[in-house]
Amino acid sequence: MLNKLSESIYYLSNQDEKERPTLGLVCGDQFSLLIDAGNSTQHAKDFLLEIEKLNVPPVKYLVITHAHWDHFLGMNEFDATVIVNNKTSELLKKWQSYTFDDSSLKKYVNTNQMSTKCMEIIQAEIPNRTSFKLSSPHIIFENTLTIDLGNKVCLLERIKSTHTDDSTIVYIPDEKVVFLGDAAYGTTTNALFHIKQSLLLPMIEDIRKHDAEFFLLGHESICDLNEMTIYWDELTAASQSVTSPSINEAIENFKLEMKRDPNENELFFMKAFVNDRIVQSR
Ligand SMILES: [Zn+2]
Repeated sequence: MLNKLSESIYYLSNQDEKERPTLGLVCGDQFSLLIDAGNSTQHAKDFLLEIEKLNVPPVKYLVITHAHWDHFLGMNEFDATVIVNNKTSELLKKWQSYTFDDSSLKKYVNTNQMSTKCMEIIQAEIPNRTSFKLSSPHIIFENTLTIDLGNKVCLLERIKSTHTDDSTIVYIPDEKVVFLGDAAYGTTTNALFHIKQSLLLPMIEDIRKHDAEFFLLGHESICDLNEMTIYWDELTAASQSVTSPSINEAIENFKLEMKRDPNENELFFMKAFVNDRIVQSR
């Protein structure tokens, strides 16, 4: 079932056990716009089935928030204009050249071009995959793009992000809602989870300049402004404490600065910033 956030905004919750991210639906008077395509044919079909149950204007646009497989592999199922930023478009080209039979999938996994989890989801949730080819996006924008769905404006913006360098967010001003995709998360390089420290503050600035009350996250579904503010504060405090690739030094810095021990989230973030120091120094 789709969750209803307002008269014009719905979302399908993330399903972690299936590696399915949050998918969004924004409806104007004339058209509807989707945020992310799902991780597979089956995920996309499930989303479409839920949309059909609602009496909403036709889906005209589909925005892919970034070029991670779980957000775009369902793309072919939608009869919509697919919109991405120029970096995402570049990154998708590799996936457009892929073939999806078992031996090709194994080859991609063995050469670290695809995760095992991705292969398993493709095998389970993309039927007819021997003939499957990922289609191309239709509209490619550089920094921002504004779409009017009929009395419902959506602002697409490529932002700086600690997750990928191709992150698009979708902001709906008159609803004070922003779809963040995975922008606010960290990333994994050579099996090491890290949060790109140099991009944290620029990212928070890019997101906070939009007056929003609700935030949809790729793998958390929804956060309100209060939850998001706590998240930014914890990340910022954690980042400030990390000045070297040493977690012990970071913990000492944190205690000195904040006059308390870091909480569980902060400690997790601190480790990710320490890992970032390690990744950046390699
Ligand atoms: Zn991602």
